[in-house]
Amino acid sequence: MTEDTIMSNKKLIYLDNNATTAVAPEVFETMRPYFCEQYGNPASIHAFGGSIMSKIENARAQVASLIGATKKDRHGKFTEVIFTGCGTESDNTAILSALRACPKKKKVVMSTVEHPAVLSLGKELEKRAYPVSYVPVDSHGCLDMARYEEMVDGNTAIVSIMWANNETGNVYPVEKCAEIAHRYGALFHTDAVQAIGKIPCSMADSQIDMLSLSGHKLHAPKGVGALYIRRGIRFHPAQIGGHQERGRRAGTENVASIIALGKAAELAQASMEEENTRVKALRDRLERGLCENIPKAKVLGDVKSRLPNTTLIGFAAVEGESILMKMDHLGICASSGSACTTGSLEPSHVLRAMGVAYTIAHGAIRFSLSIYNTQEEIDFVIREMPEIIGWLRKLSPFWQD
Ligand code: PLP
Repeated sequence: MTEDTIMSNKKLIYLDNNATTAVAPEVFETMRPYFCEQYGNPASIHAFGGSIMSKIENARAQVASLIGATKKDRHGKFTEVIFTGCGTESDNTAILSALRACPKKKKVVMSTVEHPAVLSLGKELEKRAYPVSYVPVDSHGCLDMARYEEMVDGNTAIVSIMWANNETGNVYPVEKCAEIAHRYGALFHTDAVQAIGKIPCSMADSQIDMLSLSGHKLHAPKGVGALYIRRGIRFHPAQIGGHQERGRRAGTENVASIIALGKAAELAQASMEEENTRVKALRDRLERGLCENIPKAKVLGDVKSRLPNTTLIGFAAVEGESILMKMDHLGICASSGSACTTGSLEPSHVLRAMGVAYTIAHGAIRFSLSIYNTQEEIDFVIREMPEIIGWLRKLSPFWQD
């Protein structure tokens, strides 16, 4: 959004929910008292602070319920879930913990299309002499399962494969991947930051050992996340300090945001059906409307196994950044590739891994919806986009009518 658009109070059409989401009003109301009124430290002996611990445990139960982590300890607490500062911290903690827990095993396996929260750690581990293997994907972004199986071996400490891709929305066969990892005695972690709240998840029936999620992708605030650690897994904390989170994540709890994440998890569980029916129908309407009305517009990714809210569309022979700027003037927010790569003119690492032709990859726009989007908004985008693309193509040296 340019400042002018914000200042002119133009209606915002927010289709960038894989980058971040609005905090749900109910979530905001739930967290509000924990700043100026109930601001005590949950570790305090006095009731003013100490009573807040039960609110944190309630949030833990809400998150556990969303991900179907049903195991409780003997005090009735869902100790398989710990709160962290973000999805990135959860991802890093899981992978580094596995390497510390199994010091004899050095190898890490991950896909080429992981979020930088995992992929950049892989590159860093290589610098520290850990062998890291990257599973390739095909032109639809599907994992090469045969290559994956060849890569995992007895020296593999951990496999980390994302549940859903932030750019294409592709949903990966994480259960199958976990089964293969276990066959070779490796731990299995999944970055489920984009999946949780959008598609069902049941850790009780799963082989996944560790799972990361992030608050700001499911209508909780930025700066809070969670890590699921299956009971019985050897875990080494990344942060050393106080006894918070039973010694697994030191640091005074971000009370308001944790309580907000709990509420958001509860709401996400309740709106999962809407996400998979109404939101999906809006996404399909948008996709159809754009592809039917704009020549050489192509859906990128695996349409058979995708998140219900995401579509990545390549508009041949135009520059994604220019499309985004034109959309921005109309108050429409989307992303080119991923938010993290916006600003760079190189196609994203995901599109490069898929081998998408440069002229299409450069014009790839990701639309990611949420339960707050309406059909009116989608129809406005369908009406406006052909003119934007047509206008830019007139200026494009790559476009041949
Ligand atoms: N993993 C995926 C798939 C993501 O999409 C993101 C954020 O975009 C992250 C990890 C990082 O989460 P956070 O922003 O909470 O650190």
